[in-house]
Amino acid sequence: MLRFTIGYFAFFLGLFVFNLFTEDWYRWYGALDYLSSIVFLCGIPTVCALAVTVTLNHRRPRKLFDPDAGHHVAPFFRGFLAAMLAVVISIPIVVFGDNHVGDVVLLGFASMVATGSVVFFATPRKPGHCIGCGYDLRCSLDTGRCPECGSTISKLMSANE
Ligand SMILES: [Zn+2]
Repeated sequence: MLRFTIGYFAFFLGLFVFNLFTEDWYRWYGALDYLSSIVFLCGIPTVCALAVTVTLNHRRPRKLFDPDAGHHVAPFFRGFLAAMLAVVISIPIVVFGDNHVGDVVLLGFASMVATGSVVFFATPRKPGHCIGCGYDLRCSLDTGRCPECGSTISKLMSANE
């Protein structure tokens, strides 16, 4: 989940840096200084995204966030993708909702919607099944390893069984 969040934050930070070099700078961040801009425009979407991720993952654990699943780079890219989606969603929302609510609120909302959809469609972890290959481990728990792919059966999985 940390990698997911880092990927998410990285996209917004990149976008922020990119914006520094465009003429839009004053229109977007004119009233804020650099540091508070980073906190508001990168931090708030990231916190909103993290809150949604934690909530959804708590209700139904995803393979993506399981340390035993051996995903090293995937969560980072998934976070990056969620952030991209958040920006795409935020464009029409900000354009139409600008006069009523602040940009930061709209960006936070877009973040929640985008991250929610990305996490929602991530593969859930099946209790009692191998995290590596999905093999049903309910009869092989005492062997300590998955007979299909050899992954170690974690304590977590045995507890879920
Ligand atoms: Zn397996």
